[in-house]
Amino acid sequence: MKQLMAANWKMYKTREEAGETLKELASLLTGMPENREVVIFAPFTCLNACSDTLKNETRISLGAQDCYPQKEGAFTGEVSPGMILDCGADYVLTGHSERRSILNESDDFVGSKTSFALKNGLKTILCVGESLEERDGGKLEEVLVRQLQTGLKDVPDDTSPDCLAIAYEPVWAIGTGRVAGPEEILESHAVVRKFLKIRFARQGASRRILYGGSVKAENAAAIMQLENVNGVLVGGASLRADSFSRIVLA
Ligand code: PEP
Repeated sequence: MKQLMAANWKMYKTREEAGETLKELASLLTGMPENREVVIFAPFTCLNACSDTLKNETRISLGAQDCYPQKEGAFTGEVSPGMILDCGADYVLTGHSERRSILNESDDFVGSKTSFALKNGLKTILCVGESLEERDGGKLEEVLVRQLQTGLKDVPDDTSPDCLAIAYEPVWAIGTGRVAGPEEILESHAVVRKFLKIRFARQGASRRILYGGSVKAENAAAIMQLENVNGVLVGGASLRADSFSRIVLA
């Protein structure tokens, strides 16, 4: 199983800035270990340009930060999995906490996106995570299991581990500078692993679980060594090639 090192660029970067960052990143990743895979989740508007920049680059994949669960139609402002593939990207994120909280996406809608994206050929990372209130209220397991159950409701049992990963991102650690401690990460990833083993049987053990939330070059190596951590999803520290490359190589 390759460790998946993912960058979420959120609503940052013009096409030119994205191209510059990718060129610098590709040169900084010379000597990247074979057991690491890199994916950049860029804004829709940059996907085509990024795909052109990466055309001779096999180590870095490209993804979109969201998709709509329909092939085409009267869905103003939305983007389908087919359109994302057409732009040269083959990954998508679903259920990011910013979409759940700012855009009010329900567990059910996230589940529809996840199964539709997979069915239409996109490798998918489903994001789950609890708020501070939920954690403090002792609801960690309940929240994670609910988000996983509904988020994966129509996903076929035999979905390949290469095509579907889970990102555990505690809402209170995203963009706050407050990284979850080792005990908190171990506890949450164990809940996700237990769920995956029941949901996907043997393939649940080899499905990747990423940690996300204020990952930086300084803490990445320690996080990557924890049990059931098979990669990271990085926001702020992925915007610059130098800091993200240090995380990938940590
Ligand atoms: C994210 O956006 O998924 C994220 C983890 O952000 P940050 O690394 O900035 O906390």
